[in-house]
Amino acid sequence: MAFKTELTSSDLSEIRQSALGAADPLGIAADLADAAEAGRLADKDDAGYALALAAEIAESRAKLDAALRYVERAVEAYGERDDSQAGAARALHARILFRLGRSDEALARLEPLRPLLTRYPDAAAFVTAALGAGQEHRLAEKWLTEAVQEGLGASGSTTEPSSAEDAGVLFFLLQQRHRLRHALGLQHDTHDNLAERLETRLANAGATAGPAVDLLFFRQAEFGKLLEQFPALSSVFGADWDEHRAILERELVRLTGTGRTGLTVLPGTVVGLTGFAGADGDVADARVRSGYAQQLAGREGQITWPPERNGACWCGSGTKYKKCCLPRSR
Ligand SMILES: [Zn+2]
Ligand SMILES: [Zn+2]
Repeated sequence: MAFKTELTSSDLSEIRQSALGAADPLGIAADLADAAEAGRLADKDDAGYALALAAEIAESRAKLDAALRYVERAVEAYGERDDSQAGAARALHARILFRLGRSDEALARLEPLRPLLTRYPDAAAFVTAALGAGQEHRLAEKWLTEAVQEGLGASGSTTEPSSAEDAGVLFFLLQQRHRLRHALGLQHDTHDNLAERLETRLANAGATAGPAVDLLFFRQAEFGKLLEQFPALSSVFGADWDEHRAILERELVRLTGTGRTGLTVLPGTVVGLTGFAGADGDVADARVRSGYAQQLAGREGQITWPPERNGACWCGSGTKYKKCCLPRSR
């Protein structure tokens, strides 16, 4: 596959959406890297982005050595840039090093990114995803906690933010931390309570992010496709299908505990999610996933939860609920 002579920023966004489902994604990755280095980008500042995209494509095909080469060049291309896109590329570098078993180097690269957590909304997600690739979930929880404390302290008042909007970046930190702690099976603390209050307020305000995102479910075959295309989403949806179902079952039990009734699971598809994200959206962005969940919540095809104990499980495994997902919440 040969690209036209010059790639614009919007070409790159389009490639991002389509490359992973293409027949020869590794060829696209090689062409992207080539375009970046041969100066065939309309905007020279896109070089880091194009190379990071090549690295993500190679990573998704488990070509980790190629992914590492691309991401090293991406980080180099970003140079001293200190925005969230450059931070995401550095986090990707760490994630690939983790996958290669080079944990010490990965951690050394992630540590300097910690200040980004209180600066950019998507930093909580990309730092957590990188640590997740190294099974460093406890460390991620610690970093997020410290960033939350710093964020609360920086607001300079003793009153908590009363809306997700007021909370700003802090909201994304709280939300990421809250999900991670549920996945780790930790008890709610005051920050989790705050996260939940803000999420509830956001959902009531009819905004595009809310608790529904936690009920996004991928059937077994879809889940396989999802992680094949977007390996980083394992930090959100689980490393395998068992973990995915366990996260959902725990979330449903938790919501029941808060008095919610009439709960449904929202079966999504990879095509639906990428289609919802569109050319400019990114499935790595929590707001995009929330929007998709909200869209599904307004449609037919939802799965009522809980089923009868002796009935077929909600996950579609064909096994009785009591022998399938019911015990996963424990
Ligand atoms: Zn909670
Ligand atoms: Zn099940």
